[in-house]
Amino acid sequence: MASGMYRLVYYSRNHIAHNEATFGSHLEEILEKSRINNQRDEITGALLFNSGCFAQVLEGPLDKVEAAFERIQQDERHGDVSLLALDPIDRRSFPNWAMGFIGTSDIHAKRFAAIGLSSGFDPSRLSGDEIHALLRDLAIEEEAA
Ligand code: FAD
Repeated sequence: MASGMYRLVYYSRNHIAHNEATFGSHLEEILEKSRINNQRDEITGALLFNSGCFAQVLEGPLDKVEAAFERIQQDERHGDVSLLALDPIDRRSFPNWAMGFIGTSDIHAKRFAAIGLSSGFDPSRLSGDEIHALLRDLAIEEEAA
């Protein structure tokens, strides 16, 4: 039976200054706002930041996911937003995360190094399925840690 739920995957280029403190505070703001809005809209997912790019998975009711993506595309903190996938799903990959963030711990750094060998560290060279699988695997590792 169809769940009415969809998964959206995109990547974008970071426009926030590369100064560590500025970036950290912007990121915190983005995550805080995302978690409030996404909880309200029954959206779950994860956000990856890597070498100047964002990659994000959003999953939930189609109208809510589309509305969130509309807002996200207008955001000047990033640009060149590229939609990679929008597909119906049977169940969520991130049921416990209103918006998980991946990109800081050692385990992720090692994982990125491994991905870097094949993709040159650039999410724009990964497909929607690859980004989804990567974020899902990292989320499982994070929850197990
Ligand atoms: P308000 O918070 O009232 O903001 C109003 C407007 O101001 C919006 O257009 C917003 O984009 C802009 N704005 C607010 N603060 C800043 C700032 N510091 N710099 C520049 N512009 C600003 N939102 C979600 O709801 N869910 C997500 O999963 C999500 N993921 C994101 C991922 C990335 C990589 C980025 C860059 C943003 C993400 N956002 C997400 C934030 C999203 O782009 C909107 O800012 C947010 O949804 C707007 O929330 P609001 O309607 O409550 O508006």
